This record gives sequence, C-alpha cells and structure tokens, in this order.
Amino acid sequence: MVCAMAETTSPDAVPAFGPDSEEMLRCNRCELRYIPSKSTSSLRLTYCSFLCELGDLGFSIAGLEHMEPQPKAIEAPTVDLEPQESEPESEPAVVE
Ligand SMILES: [Zn+2]
Repeated sequence: MVCAMAETTSPDAVPAFGPDSEEMLRCNRCELRYIPSKSTSSLRLTYCSFLCELGDLGFSIAGLEHMEPQPKAIEAPTVDLEPQESEPESEPAVVE
C-alpha cells in the first residue's frame, strides 16, 4: 500500500479524499460534494442531507422506518371490460 503522503497537484483531479482521508461523495440530487458521515440522510452514501433524499425519493428512509406501512386496498379498476371471447373457428365441414 502506498501511503497517501504525496500531494498530487493536478488541477483536473479532484481530491477524492479529504483531510481526514474520508471520501467525499457527490450528492445524487444537488450534486454537491459532501462527507458521508456528516450527511443527515439515511442514504448518506447517496444524498448529502435528508432533504435531498426526501426530495429525490419523495419520502425519507428514516420516516419509513418509523411509519407503519399502511396496507393499501388495491381496488381493481371497475371498468366494464367486455370479455372478448375468441370465437372458435368453426372448421368448415368438409362435404365431399
Ligand atoms: Zn444534496
């Protein structure tokens, strides 16, 4: 293993490791760089904060953990579908 003491000063390369050698991630929503351990999101490897998590997913994982899942009564759409009976092809009687 190479100790990361050497400072690479290339302008293009964004340092992937902060001073605490903690990897900076890019938020999946706001695309800000953040330190995962400081993220308030449950998906701290994905979002910089729970607001981004909430905004992107439409819900928060943390909220789901505390919420009891409400069973949704899935009702079948009451559309009058006429059952299309495939008419069996009546074989023509072969009359000889
Ligand atoms: Zn974000």
